[in-house]
Amino acid sequence: MTDCSAELKTGIAAVRHAARLCQAVQSSITAEALEKKDKSPVTIADFGSQAIVCRAIGDAFPDDPIVGEEDSAELKEPGNKTFLTRILQELSAVGLDASADDACAWIDRGGWIGEDLPGERFWALDPIDGTKGFLRGQQYAISLAMIENGQIAAAVVGCPNLPLEATARGASVDESVIASGAGSLLVAAKGAGAFVLPIEGDSDFDPASTTRITVSQVSEFAEARLCESVESGHSSHSHSAQIAGELGIVHEPARLDSQAKYAVVARGEADIYLRLPTRPGYREKIWDHAGGVLVTEEAGGKVTDIAGKPLDFMHGRELKENRGVIVTNGLLHEQVLVAVRNAGIE
Ligand code: AMP
Ligand code: MG
Repeated sequence: MTDCSAELKTGIAAVRHAARLCQAVQSSITAEALEKKDKSPVTIADFGSQAIVCRAIGDAFPDDPIVGEEDSAELKEPGNKTFLTRILQELSAVGLDASADDACAWIDRGGWIGEDLPGERFWALDPIDGTKGFLRGQQYAISLAMIENGQIAAAVVGCPNLPLEATARGASVDESVIASGAGSLLVAAKGAGAFVLPIEGDSDFDPASTTRITVSQVSEFAEARLCESVESGHSSHSHSAQIAGELGIVHEPARLDSQAKYAVVARGEADIYLRLPTRPGYREKIWDHAGGVLVTEEAGGKVTDIAGKPLDFMHGRELKENRGVIVTNGLLHEQVLVAVRNAGIE
């Protein structure tokens, strides 16, 4: 097992810093912006968050490629100057004064676009996962993971709107429950467990004194809580309802955006997260899963695709060899896979 304490220390500080920018931008989103379906707030926060995290990782681990969702090509177009200026303002507001060239260079540290593995060791970053949730004022995540020889070795997943204190099962996973003050930062290292810290502040991560998280022990579907995407375009709600019916799940599914779904399974607030393909050609992106997968596995959960195969992070930006994602507390996994198979999902 690699000692990932340096990676976690840098990753935790970077994700917390990025979360401050995201929180400031999210709180500035007005009803008017939502009505106009104005994507600029999320885009400013996406670029700002990627700049912060890639700057920190690139400074600390200069040889590591970073596979991030964004690149600065669009920002460099002359028509987007005002937009770039707004990103610089948001960076400055969280204590990072940067020139336009600096900011673009940091963003592009995460612009690895090759088809195959970027190296034996690399990072995957989603600067804002769950952009639709971000715009709605609901759940989103900043997800960072380090992958070494195809294994996820370290993960830091910031969920600024996920309450730090897990509430009653099912209660805090409702999309309407938003952290007031203290959001969650999920941290995991391969073989060392999964933990939750406050996303605010700069408390040190010491595994010996940090709260560990574990999945539920639920083994009966009558008790089980299921979660899924808010967006039916990202995961088929009709198929999940069919599967829930077959398994005898009685509780309504909790719908929440982003890798916060992995977090709630990892903390035992839900027992199953289904991500069922909505169209044949879609391939999941590595940054939508890497962080959440390790957090859940280290909490004792199980993650596979809909055919029961482990997620394979060895194929560049996409999970080319996998279809959909099934996450459970482990105990329920095999039966869920059988029900998925019986539902005939392609
Ligand atoms: P969620 O918040 O769980 O619904 O997931 C958000 C992520 O869904 C985004 O980061 C996108 O990368 C991803 N996404 C976009 N289109 C699809 C699709 N057709 N199927 C699955 N995921 C998608
Ligand atoms: Mg995403």
